[in-house]
Amino acid sequence: MSATNGVLVVGAGPVGLVAASQLARLGVPVRLIDVLEAPTDESRAVVIHARSLEMLAALGVRPQLEARGRRVDRFEIADGRTGATRAAVDLTGIPSRHPSMLDIAQPDTEAVLAERAAELGVVVERGVELTALAQDADGVEVTLRTAAEDETARFGWVVGADGAHSTTRHLVGTHLEGGFHGQHFAMADVEVETSLAPTTGRMFTHPDGVAMLFPLRETRARVIFLVDDPGDAAAPTLEQIEALTEERMAGRVRVTGSHWLTYFEIHHAQVPQYRHGRVLLAGDAAHVHSPAGAQGMNTGIQDAANLAWKLALVARHGADPGLLDSYQEERHPVGAEVVRVTTTLTDVGTASGPLAALRDAAMFVVGHVPALGEAAAERLAELTVGYPHSSLSVRHGAHRHGTAKAGEHAPDPEGLRRADGTPVAVEELLERPGFVLLVHGDDGALGDVLGDLGTVVPLDADDEGMALVRPDGYLGLVADTTDPDVLRRYLADVLRVPAAVTAI
Ligand SMILES: Cc1cc2nc3c(=O)[nH]c(=O)nc-3n(C[C@H](O)[C@H](O)[C@H](O)COP(=O)(O)OP(=O)(O)OC[C@H]3O[C@@H](n4cnc5c(N)ncnc54)[C@H](O)[C@@H]3O)c2cc1C
Repeated sequence: MSATNGVLVVGAGPVGLVAASQLARLGVPVRLIDVLEAPTDESRAVVIHARSLEMLAALGVRPQLEARGRRVDRFEIADGRTGATRAAVDLTGIPSRHPSMLDIAQPDTEAVLAERAAELGVVVERGVELTALAQDADGVEVTLRTAAEDETARFGWVVGADGAHSTTRHLVGTHLEGGFHGQHFAMADVEVETSLAPTTGRMFTHPDGVAMLFPLRETRARVIFLVDDPGDAAAPTLEQIEALTEERMAGRVRVTGSHWLTYFEIHHAQVPQYRHGRVLLAGDAAHVHSPAGAQGMNTGIQDAANLAWKLALVARHGADPGLLDSYQEERHPVGAEVVRVTTTLTDVGTASGPLAALRDAAMFVVGHVPALGEAAAERLAELTVGYPHSSLSVRHGAHRHGTAKAGEHAPDPEGLRRADGTPVAVEELLERPGFVLLVHGDDGALGDVLGDLGTVVPLDADDEGMALVRPDGYLGLVADTTDPDVLRRYLADVLRVPAAVTAI
């Protein structure tokens, strides 16, 4: 691996695994290390939302994930004392090719991602800890500690995906900033008996603290409860979980056995900067928040997808490192919003007295006005994430009514076909690494301009134009022309790729 373009990914949790796999797919030399000798068996995050699944599908792992998980197509908020449904969100109508949540224990997610990474040539180096880091203009020197020795190594770039207690974050001299009202959750993976539908995820509001129920495979489920500070106790007892389930889930769920019990303390906080020169922070290293809404791992996976292709342009294709500032520009506001929304969701779920009445009224409205329910479903699935104001989102010429805009997640346009004439989705086209340039009209020189950055795909449509789909599925350039100079200027001026890479 060349020191100047190789990337070290620190942490083989879901975020590090996605980052490393995407980088490898895009031809970047990667090392992926984790201090743990073996993958965690703690189930932790249990939901993959639709937008993450779209990205993971492009990585080629959707069938494997679905085989180990359970599709959940409805989310309900219920009164934990009476069981009355306050609001229900139907996920089947959300605008995604995967209109549901996939409930799957985190070790299964990680196992599937690690298998894919290995296929791509990235094997997790276990028992290897990042302990020191110093960067200069050309690279980053790191110390990697194993039981046997300290290794000094040099990389072009470092991705800190080392979780909530990130060493990388500490070594670049930044820290999480936020509300810091630490909240404690009792959580457990249990066997349950319930008459509640196993295809529905649930949040129960309760004055003692919000409770959540996520059905996993067969009779297994994840239960989560906001609790008081448990002090030194590392885990609740099974009896405590049984009692919390009984009290806060309106007696509708009975625990019959347990797989994993833990207490989990969380703050609501975020680092001010995701980029520190040649070091980029992603996932829990960059933002931590309540598990309400199951957004944490999903947000991290999408950080990784956003970062990887930009880093590949810089590390492999010589793009100006300034491109990496767009990672902060695009992902920091998303993280900030997740911190804000999950904090509110947790507090609202716990409200009592007049505030609870207000909450219940608001939920009644959401549950009974379809448009509001749909909006909530889209937000929960992270489908509302987009980058319309990003410096990378460029429209050339007039916007045609009804067509997608730059910065939006690429929809599947009518008339998209494989060379053999069969219909194909953008997500399937993104299984090929790199950009996808959808072209309707003369695509003569466009392939030469795009070079090995991606693939040109002709589109049957009435109007001439082109749309450049980024490897993370969002639209970068949308143009009402197929003029190669428009694409050339976008690549050179906006993505800052040197002209030599894309020259005809
Ligand atoms: C107990 C617990 C319960 C959780 N429950 C939920 C939940 O119910 N719902 C939800 O959405 N989210 C939950 N989360 C959060 C969720 O697990 C994270 O959002 C998700 O794992 C983020 O992934 P990540 O890859 O950023 O970090 P992590 O999964 O934390 O992975 C970081 C990796 O970095 C490694 N590492 C750390 N330091 C170093 C170092 N110096 N050198 C090398 N390797 C290092 C660690 O060993 C670890 O494997 C929970 C987290 C915990 C800890």
